[in-house]
Formats: sequence, C-alpha cells, structure tokens
Amino acid sequence: MKIFNIILIFILYFNVYPSFSSNDFNLVPIKVSNNVFVFVGANEDINNKNGGAISNTGFIIGDDSILVIDAGPSYIYASNVIEIIKSFSDLPIKYLVVTHHHADHSFGISRYLEMDVEIIMAPAELKRYLKYGNRSLKQLRDLIGEEWFLDTKINSFQYKEKKYPVSLNLGNRNILIELYEKGHSDGDLIIKDKISSTLFVGDLVFSGRAPTIPHANINNWKNYIDLISKKNWNYLIPGHGNIIKNKDELLPTKNWITFIDKTAKEASISGISALEIFNEGLPDFIKEYKLAKETWYRDLPILINKYEFD
Ligand SMILES: [Zn+2]
Repeated sequence: MKIFNIILIFILYFNVYPSFSSNDFNLVPIKVSNNVFVFVGANEDINNKNGGAISNTGFIIGDDSILVIDAGPSYIYASNVIEIIKSFSDLPIKYLVVTHHHADHSFGISRYLEMDVEIIMAPAELKRYLKYGNRSLKQLRDLIGEEWFLDTKINSFQYKEKKYPVSLNLGNRNILIELYEKGHSDGDLIIKDKISSTLFVGDLVFSGRAPTIPHANINNWKNYIDLISKKNWNYLIPGHGNIIKNKDELLPTKNWITFIDKTAKEASISGISALEIFNEGLPDFIKEYKLAKETWYRDLPILINKYEFD
C-alpha cells in the first residue's frame, strides 16, 4: 500500500508542478578550437524540460570583438549565453548571425537588441521571423509554458541589407558569411571562421537526429550538402547535434531528405495517403535516426500535401 502512495505522490507532484524550476539551461560551451565555442542543444524535440534549447549556439572571439551564431529559443536563453560569453572575454559582442528564422534559432534576438549588436540574417528569413514569429511564440508558450519565454518578443529592428558573401573582421580573425537560398529554409547562412577552418552551417546539416523539412526545397538542399562536403573545413557545426569532423557524417541528413522526398513524390503521384504509408510501419532505414518517428509523422504529410498542390 505504501508503495502505491509513493507512486501516487510522484504522479501528482509531476502533474501539478511543471518540471521547469529556474530557467536554468545548464549551458556549458564546448571548445571547438582556439576562441571558437559551441553550446550544443539537447538532441530532442522542444519540451518543458529543455525550454526549447535544442539547437546549437556558437561564438567566436577575435582580438577586437565577438560574433555569436544563432540567438537560441528565448530571451532567457540568450541572457544565459551572453553571461557565459562575458565570463570568457570582456570584448563586445558585435555581431549576431541568425542562420534562419526557426524559433529555436531566432527567438533570443530580443535580448541582443538591448545591446549594441548588429544582427545579420537573410532578408527572406527576417521577413518570415516578423510575419510568423508571434504566432509561433504563442504556440510555444502554450506548449511548454510561459515561464520559458519571459521577455521574449518579436520586434522589427534596424537592419542593414548585406551583399553576400559578407566578410567580417573580428580583429585578426576573418569571418566569411555565405547565403544559401531556398535550401533548408529560404535563406540559410553559413559562417566560416577562417583561422580554425570551422564552418557553422545551421540546419543545412543535422547530426544524430532526423532533419526537419517544413520550409525546405529538398533538391537545392541536397546540392548544398554536396557543396558543403566539397569545402575545406576541419570542424563543421551543424544546427543540431555534435561537432562533425568527418564528411561521411553529412550523409544521414542527405539520405533522410532524399528518402522522405522520394516517398512523398511517389505518394502524391499515385494518390496514396500519408496514413496508408504510416500503416505499413516505420521504414527500416529511418529507424536508426533519433526522433525518426516524430519527424516522419509530422513531416511526411506536409510534404505530400505540398507536392499535391505543386
Ligand atoms: Zn533548428
């Protein structure tokens, strides 16, 4: 009987009180190379334990200034990141590069707007951020709790149009930013730190999990992965998952998007529904991926629908 009471208390406790406690993301930066760091996000879907911190955030320290890659999911997350960066260096954060508009990469922007930071983002992605940001912020608040998004706002900001590729100098540290249009998103930015030969590629590459495709042009995306593969780099930082050192590690992203694309195209031609495909169970090859099931069930109907209306 006692054990039942304990179990009951556990059930009640965890249902009544959200697991969220102090907005603490437990962020620990990993050193990629000298003065290049990355906070690796939880390789999970957004939930009320990770507070949306599922994507990677990088920072690069030059002799004069610092560049941050991706804003993370919220004001509080960005505040934590900035605090940690300050413990590494007194230099100013001069640039924030947002690789694309998805919430997990961009919703921390509001924190950087309180500082004198230039925000670099593809025009098409800024447009989407401003157009759909509030709707998706509301969805996230409902999904995992308001408390994770205190002070998070979607505001327009002073924005300098850029001509890509963009070259920056952080002080004896040259950075190159390239625009890859209509790939994983309408405008994915890739950031190269030349000294360490580190490439931050945002969600053009996922490591250790199924890639998501809601705004993707899969044909272009596949070509971009080939292009990235042919570039010279020592370290590649994906949008999600661990640091990549080996070109073979780009294949899981390419294989997944090729497979889901082919399945969706065939279904739209032959009039097979997503449900009929789901009834056959999860295809063997994709079972290997983390979040395979969730991603497959969410993305396949979107893609079939898209091809039916194309
Ligand atoms: Zn992402």
